[in-house]
Amino acid sequence: MAGNRQPEVNIGLVGHVDHGKTTLVQALSGSWTDQHSEEMKRGISIRLGYADTTFRYCDGLDEPECYTVEEECPDGSPSEPLRTVSFVDAPGHETLMATMLSGASLMDGAVLVVSANEPVPQPQTEEHLMALDIIGIDNIVIAQNKVDLVDADTARDNYQQIQEFVEGTVAEGAPIVPISAGQEVNLDLLIQAIEEEIPTPERDPETNPRMHVARSFDINKPGTTADQLTGGVLGGSLVQGELEVDDEIEIRPGREVEEGGRTEYVPIETTIRSLQAGGETVDTVTPGGLLGVGTGLDPSLTKGDALAGRMAGPPGTLPPTWEQFTMDVDLLDRVVGSDGGEVDEISTGEPLMMTVGTATTVGSVTSARSGECEVRLKRPVAADPGTKIAINRRIGARWRLIGLGTLTD
Ligand code: GDP
Ligand code: MG
Repeated sequence: MAGNRQPEVNIGLVGHVDHGKTTLVQALSGSWTDQHSEEMKRGISIRLGYADTTFRYCDGLDEPECYTVEEECPDGSPSEPLRTVSFVDAPGHETLMATMLSGASLMDGAVLVVSANEPVPQPQTEEHLMALDIIGIDNIVIAQNKVDLVDADTARDNYQQIQEFVEGTVAEGAPIVPISAGQEVNLDLLIQAIEEEIPTPERDPETNPRMHVARSFDINKPGTTADQLTGGVLGGSLVQGELEVDDEIEIRPGREVEEGGRTEYVPIETTIRSLQAGGETVDTVTPGGLLGVGTGLDPSLTKGDALAGRMAGPPGTLPPTWEQFTMDVDLLDRVVGSDGGEVDEISTGEPLMMTVGTATTVGSVTSARSGECEVRLKRPVAADPGTKIAINRRIGARWRLIGLGTLTD
């Protein structure tokens, strides 16, 4: 029943490194991983850090025991599928905020994983929560993980620390579920909390489809002969509408073309040759979850994430491409993280790193006024006016989140 299995909602896994995000995703999608065996499926899900799982229900059991990811209930009867969700988990080596932020534009909700055996907050716990706040993701469940490592008093104390920490943030009032991802304790309670707190957004199938391209690759093995080559693959998420095999799509900003010493971006058009969703080959995709799009493009165009951060949709329907833009700026009071000082005003000439949708781009400030600035980008982005922009400044060795921008013109 392929139709049942296409994920309908994207749930981000956020939180400090080593707090158990990946372990939790594995615990919740264990019975699924072996179904992702073909090269393309595996390539996409691993590289994007997406993992799909179907939440299920066992009739006749009380809450929370009735929630499961197993196909069989304790009494041997089959469980009923509730919905398929897609977890977005940044690869372990990706500690960059930019990665988290660009993933965040695809998240419909988030699970904030906080380890019970460390003081709250750790730097990325705070930083990621701030990012959710900025991007406006307010359907949040907090997983207090690794409770197997602490005694009851410590767990209670840590629980209270979490509660105090999220007061006044977008996660205030979010359920905090004590779990052990490693020992698979209380996962039913966590599933129940996700079912209640992170609903599937309403989608309008009639609007023009629009895909955020988060990654792109060449899935051919080295040495594949030209006539055996599979076209370039795009990975990402559909945020509205529906896509079908044989649809024509445009990709913006397209590819870089040098002409007369000038670099230009030319939109790319291609045909959808195949679609992958929910670990299956399908003819039609709807929003939610990870999508793999096989295209007719020369795979050298899509190799190594060359088209990451682009948008795809029917030709002529995509938002404009910007080489420079003006944004309204709302700065944070202080830099988030362990050593956060005050945030100084943005000044003309300074470099900024900006996350616009799934695109991350560096720009230089050409004019700064209070509450507004103009930037010229190294690489253009396609975006609608009104798009939220995460603004990062280099402080010491790292890009640090300093505020929120809104694209004006
Ligand atoms: P991530 O960086 O947030 O993705 O963290 P990982 O999932 O990679 O986990 C970091 C480490 O913590 C690994 O060694 C896990 O085995 C361990 N771990 C994760 N969850 C638990 C848990 O619930 N209990 C215990 N004892 N260890 C855990
Ligand atoms: Mg991880």
